[in-house]
Amino acid sequence: MTAPIRIALQKSGRLSEDSYQLFKACGIRFDYGTGKLKSVSSNFPAEFLFLRDDDIPGYVEDGVADLGIVGENVAVETGRNVSTVHRLGFSKCRLSIAIPRGDAYNGLSDLEGKNIATSYPNLLGTYLAGQGIKAEIHEISGSVEIAPSIGLAEAVCDIVSSGSTLLSNGLKEVETIFRSEAIMIAYPGLVAEKQTLLDQLLFRINAVQAAKN
Ligand code: ATP
Ligand code: ZN
Repeated sequence: MTAPIRIALQKSGRLSEDSYQLFKACGIRFDYGTGKLKSVSSNFPAEFLFLRDDDIPGYVEDGVADLGIVGENVAVETGRNVSTVHRLGFSKCRLSIAIPRGDAYNGLSDLEGKNIATSYPNLLGTYLAGQGIKAEIHEISGSVEIAPSIGLAEAVCDIVSSGSTLLSNGLKEVETIFRSEAIMIAYPGLVAEKQTLLDQLLFRINAVQAAKN
């Protein structure tokens, strides 16, 4: 019997519900939301691991999980060696630079020498280097948007969807540096049997997406 394909999903967060609904729409049943770390599908050779999203690229790079669903922002930021096998079209958001609403802004050069707080130092560093801007990147793991009001930074670079969080923290969006959506990533060295299961899964996902459009 073929070993099941192992799929890492976010345990609880903005990717979780849509990830689950995707497999459900593909006719793949498994227990979800029970608090367990692992669940085996009752009707497809797959088992699901529930993890923090930041840990998923590492598990997939190491082959502990064969597949994973993460935001492209996290996949790129972690820089892990994984293959992107499908774009899923949900959890769309952007990574943007924002500054206090009252500050003047005439372009990227206004960021020169500024201290920018972010949870995405690699994405921001690459972007600024590409634009020839030298700024201080201050890495913080959460609540980035309050950094300017407490004097921790002069600007932030954070995930935005509607912009309401920025607004309520007295910030305005000045540059978008990355656009993201949920993607499916895979271990680059999948054995033939697992590749076959992935192909079957992608066939179902394509059918689900085609039916939606
Ligand atoms: P975890 O506890 O698993 O580490 P987290 O708090 O880091 O979760 P979430 O806020 O659940 O992460 O976001 C997961 C992903 O969903 C993000 O990496 C991003 O790709 C996307 N995302 C984040 N915020 C939004 C948003 N407001 N709208 C849509 N998608 C978003
Ligand atoms: Zn996370």
